[in-house]
Amino acid sequence: MVVIDSIKNGIVIDHITAGLGMKLLEYLDIDTSQNTVALIMNAVSNKYGRKDVVKIENVFDIDLAALGIIDPKATVNYIEDHVINEKIHLTIPERVVNIIKCNNPRCVTSIEAAAPQIFHLIDRENREYRCEYCDEIISMKGGYGNEIIHRQWFNR
Ligand SMILES: [Zn+2]
Repeated sequence: MVVIDSIKNGIVIDHITAGLGMKLLEYLDIDTSQNTVALIMNAVSNKYGRKDVVKIENVFDIDLAALGIIDPKATVNYIEDHVINEKIHLTIPERVVNIIKCNNPRCVTSIEAAAPQIFHLIDRENREYRCEYCDEIISMKGGYGNEIIHRQWFNR
């Protein structure tokens, strides 16, 4: 990974909660043989104290719902020709498909590999999600373990 000051075309994910930048990158699973990716950890931010920043060159298609679950405070900037073309403030998604993995070993999604993992937001304050099939509740507030949220779970 190379730290670069600016990118010509691509995405800058800014105001990531310090420490979550790596988690975001792990989830996005960008092909680094094709794209330049920069992760800046623990940068000083005037607004929030410390932050992480992720820059990805030549990639525009990312899963905003997934990013909103991992870190709803982050912002996504779409850069075209060195200029911010669009800025998106992430939100906590109401319904998510194939982002969180159900923990319950008896859940149909644990048994049937092809069953989609569908979760509904039930508590915005605590970022709690309920499994559509078995009612298992997962709190995403501070819980970003690989066992719960990891893109590779769903590349099957
Ligand atoms: Zn379940």
